[in-house]
Amino acid sequence: MTLKNYKKHFISTLETHYPTTEVLSFFNLLAADILGFSRVDIVLEAASEINDTNLKKLNQALSELGNHKPLQYILGETEFYGLPFKVNEHTLIPRPETEELVSWILESVENTQKKISILDIGTGSGCIAISLAKNLPNAQVTGYDISEKTLITATSNASLNNVSVDFKLVDILKIETLDTSFDIIVSNPPYVRNLEKKEIQKNVLEHEPHTALFVEDDDPLIFYTKIANLAKNNLNPNGLLFFEINQYLGKETVALVKSIGFNNVTLKQDIFKADRMICASRKK
Ligand code: GLN
Repeated sequence: MTLKNYKKHFISTLETHYPTTEVLSFFNLLAADILGFSRVDIVLEAASEINDTNLKKLNQALSELGNHKPLQYILGETEFYGLPFKVNEHTLIPRPETEELVSWILESVENTQKKISILDIGTGSGCIAISLAKNLPNAQVTGYDISEKTLITATSNASLNNVSVDFKLVDILKIETLDTSFDIIVSNPPYVRNLEKKEIQKNVLEHEPHTALFVEDDDPLIFYTKIANLAKNNLNPNGLLFFEINQYLGKETVALVKSIGFNNVTLKQDIFKADRMICASRKK
């Protein structure tokens, strides 16, 4: 089949599932990944025949997209904060709002020359920990996750980006204290309530790890309670606690963190104007 005809077939197969602009962007990304073709090549090579090996790969991707598998999982890689990250079904796909959280953390660290220590709880692909390590070469970064399989991916992402992060298998809900103190503790824990499942798109619901996403309706702030309590005892003087939060629970999360003893709490919205992140400290 020619590239031109395959493109037509690709679009007509997926356009009932996704908006056409998204289908075109899928096609361009797959053509780049599988055929090594740029967008210009796709036009120039329209009449060229796709060989059997590549046709098989494209068809495989096409059928996975038809099943709402996220393209990032099909390609096995994505970009976060300008850096490459391997992703798979054991890791959440890094979100743009989490890039905003990383920016906020970097802005708040005044002197990047200082040797600061950072803990990322529920590190997943390692996107927060690794992008902080990359931008703060003197920082000592630790990442915790409950899943061994996830930590394998996080570890390979650290070497992919030439940074060193100390990853540890930890179930945060099961520990009573942290081993050491940190200057920054950050977490993007699971925060989507089961009652919000009807708002969640198929590609997320059917393919991304539920342990990284969902919390029980009757205790949606369970991770924030636990982590803020740990941070209360294990943040260095002037230390900062950062959270990504559920947009519908901004006020509640601020109140919780305050009630645990953080008197200085800032709530920040993401670019979509949703309450999305918190910075907390215990200034005297
Ligand atoms: N923001 C993610 C989503 O909407 C959820 C991330 C999380 O639960 N920590 O899918």
